[in-house]
Amino acid sequence: MIAHLRHLTRRLPLQRGMLQQQQRSASYLIDQPEYSFLKDLGLERDNPGVFAGQWQGRGQSITSYDPGTGQAIATVRQGNVQELHNAVGWTVEAYKHWRQVPAPVRGEIVRQIGDELRKYKEPLGKLVSLEVGKIYSEGQGEVQEFIDICDYAVGLSRIYAGQLINSERAQHTILEAWRPLGLVGVISAYNFPNAVFGWNAAIALTTGNTVLWKGAPSTPLVSVATTKIVAEVLRRNNLPPIVSLCQGGTDVGAALVADKRVNLVSFTGSCQTGRDVGVEVQRRFGKVILELGGNNALVIDESANVKMALDAALFGCIGTSGQRCTTTRRIIVHEKLHDSFVEALTEKYAQLLPRIGHQLEVDTLVGPVHSKQNVDSYKATIDEAKLLGGKVAFGGRVVQRPGHYVEPTIITGLAHDASVVHRETFAPIVYVLKARSVNEAIAWNNEVEQGLSSALFTENMTQAFKWIGAQGSDCGIVNINTTTNGAEIGGAFGGEKATGGGRESGSDAWKQYCKRATITLNHSGELACAQGVVFNVE
Ligand code: NAD
Repeated sequence: MIAHLRHLTRRLPLQRGMLQQQQRSASYLIDQPEYSFLKDLGLERDNPGVFAGQWQGRGQSITSYDPGTGQAIATVRQGNVQELHNAVGWTVEAYKHWRQVPAPVRGEIVRQIGDELRKYKEPLGKLVSLEVGKIYSEGQGEVQEFIDICDYAVGLSRIYAGQLINSERAQHTILEAWRPLGLVGVISAYNFPNAVFGWNAAIALTTGNTVLWKGAPSTPLVSVATTKIVAEVLRRNNLPPIVSLCQGGTDVGAALVADKRVNLVSFTGSCQTGRDVGVEVQRRFGKVILELGGNNALVIDESANVKMALDAALFGCIGTSGQRCTTTRRIIVHEKLHDSFVEALTEKYAQLLPRIGHQLEVDTLVGPVHSKQNVDSYKATIDEAKLLGGKVAFGGRVVQRPGHYVEPTIITGLAHDASVVHRETFAPIVYVLKARSVNEAIAWNNEVEQGLSSALFTENMTQAFKWIGAQGSDCGIVNINTTTNGAEIGGAFGGEKATGGGRESGSDAWKQYCKRATITLNHSGELACAQGVVFNVE
């Protein structure tokens, strides 16, 4: 068809505009039979990007592109600021109903969301891969994470509880109760367009909140498809919009952050944007969860199981083409192992070169980076590293093919505190640093601004306990003998310092979605003040 059009274009120049129009419309991936899974998700060529009971979208229409080919997938009509305000209003109204629903019944709705996701795991995971650029198994894994957190939340709905505290006053009892906050606004980043919403929504809904989501502007189709799955559960259960969506850019995000009706803003994104979001929410005394950038180190002690450390480095540095917040960005190796480790790692990297390819191809292990912006920052960082005296031990080049592909890159010879080493570049670049001891490695691990993930490879118990103790890694994730990359939903996820301090997902992170009430019950029949204070008149 396109070859035919090209032929006509040569012969009939006057009709070129019309033909280009036809070529463009024919080139949306959603119209091609091999992408029929997009239609299985209820997506169309042009999709409304706002949901609050009804679908609409009066803002800018944006095209979503496949980073693996540069081809257009489909378009989404984003919301504007007015639609955001309306969606806030409807979701606040829905809260008035939802907070009355018993927690285990809320859990049952979350269970249904998990089941609905199970039905659509394959096509939704493929869409995550297609739109972000992550490989097939990682796209499937991301949806699995949402399913897992739904299961977790269902259990939570029956067991989350306050406590009873002993009172110093006779015949008094102190209770602690956890109540919902109200409306939770979720702003998410492009690299986890499904799971981050899932972590927040499953726990926030279970604890009695309603949720308004703004996904990243460059992954709008995942936002729409995911919301359609949730909306079907709401429809079946005759529920008001306890979950709503307003796709949009900075204007919509900023309006959500500024809106006093949004009781908690859960923001996932860069440190730079997160700092502004944190300040804005604090200015109006709202609550905030910040899940921001990382600069994660893998420390290899001289006693390490090197084979295992190499495997951990490979996935940690290159998985998701270096675009996870937990990606290994620095490898700090004991000086005795440094040279042999770099050599072995470059050999492993070389084996991956033939596995660079389109994210949905079966053999691909290294997909594209998400956008031209990622490619540009990859190039700029490598140039800067070279100027600073770094040596490119592997990679360093942009792959010449349609789409946004770069070679996974290893850089050696830089100072531990070089500017590029201290910065998060969202691309598959790792700096290998030579340290004299675990103590030195811990100091370097901790000297960066961010504090998300870290891992030590050691067989030495003393070093292991130092690493996890107060004098050890200052990160939120402090692993031993496993990668920095990725996490399970059972543990609380998040990091310290410029990573923002927030925690989502497992453990007791549900408390972040609640307000705590301390309730003193006097069943003595007399009024008594605490600390023996006497204050009365006869
Ligand atoms: P980003 O900061 O550019 O964008 C994140 C979101 O913020 C997007 O939805 C964007 O539209 C929105 N936004 C932008 N300006 C805003 C404003 N003024 N007010 C409100 N919202 C605004 O981040 P990105 O490039 O999409 O994602 C990559 C970054 O996210 C990396 O730094 C990565 O480490 C981080 N990240 C962190 C975690 C974590 O859990 N710690 C998880 C994933 C990604």
